[in-house]
Amino acid sequence: MSIKTNRPDWGKLFASILTEPGRLGEHYRLFHRYSLGNQLLAVVQMEERGIPIGPIASFNGWKKLGRRVKKGEKALALWMPVVKTERIEKEDGTEEEVTKRFFIMKNHWFALAQTEPIDPENPGTIPTPETPEWDRATALANLGITEVPFEHPDGNCQGFARPNKMQIAINPLAAFPWKTAFHEMAHCLLHGKQAEAAFVDGGVIDTSIEEAEAESVAYLCCATLGLPGLEEARGYVQSWLGSSAKAEEFVKKSAARVFAAADKILKAGQSYCKEAAHEDDPEREEVRHGV
Ligand SMILES: [Zn+2]
Repeated sequence: MSIKTNRPDWGKLFASILTEPGRLGEHYRLFHRYSLGNQLLAVVQMEERGIPIGPIASFNGWKKLGRRVKKGEKALALWMPVVKTERIEKEDGTEEEVTKRFFIMKNHWFALAQTEPIDPENPGTIPTPETPEWDRATALANLGITEVPFEHPDGNCQGFARPNKMQIAINPLAAFPWKTAFHEMAHCLLHGKQAEAAFVDGGVIDTSIEEAEAESVAYLCCATLGLPGLEEARGYVQSWLGSSAKAEEFVKKSAARVFAAADKILKAGQSYCKEAAHEDDPEREEVRHGV
């Protein structure tokens, strides 16, 4: 069953994280294989419906683990990326193939508490939360970002990024070196098109949209991994969203980009080999060929 929805409400999820930053880290162990957006979506639905937070799997996924979905339980919905190719006839009569990428919401997942053992004598296999390891060197290598020595005369400078060269540098004396590292990585991932731009970040971050995006990514990464600097990043983002005329635009246009960049950084630093995508995996891209 699939319902085609409008754009996911990233803005709403982003706002929920700003008010409850603890939620991300708390559930990361359980859902780190999912994107940040789906982690939040799963938790929000379980909370709304009074279902204890626990591992999730599809109907068939639970069956393979020796458990079945209890009668009357309704599935949780997560976003799945879909790539659709369509043939479009052009004015000159030739055809062109157009690829569209969008999200659909699928009601496909059930939490542990919504299931019961198939065999009353045997509880089946219950997936256990794992603590994922996030390694900075692995992340940088996977993202194609090089950390270069910090050389900047201004002692107040926390770090800088040269997105066109995919380089970052962090002041060894930075107040929050982790936050600054994520911030500079975000500039590399999001702002490479501003060709020659180099972002030099001082103690006080300016209020441009690029800085708000980079700091939001830093916030999501610090919140997920439980690293210091979280309160400072959160303070900046909250005051930015509260006072900037661009705040509404940010929620519409930037929130999805911010989630995607934070996801990319988090996934890039995990050492496990990503298992082959299987039916249970909402991040698996579904490819459809249009009419
Ligand atoms: Zn910056």
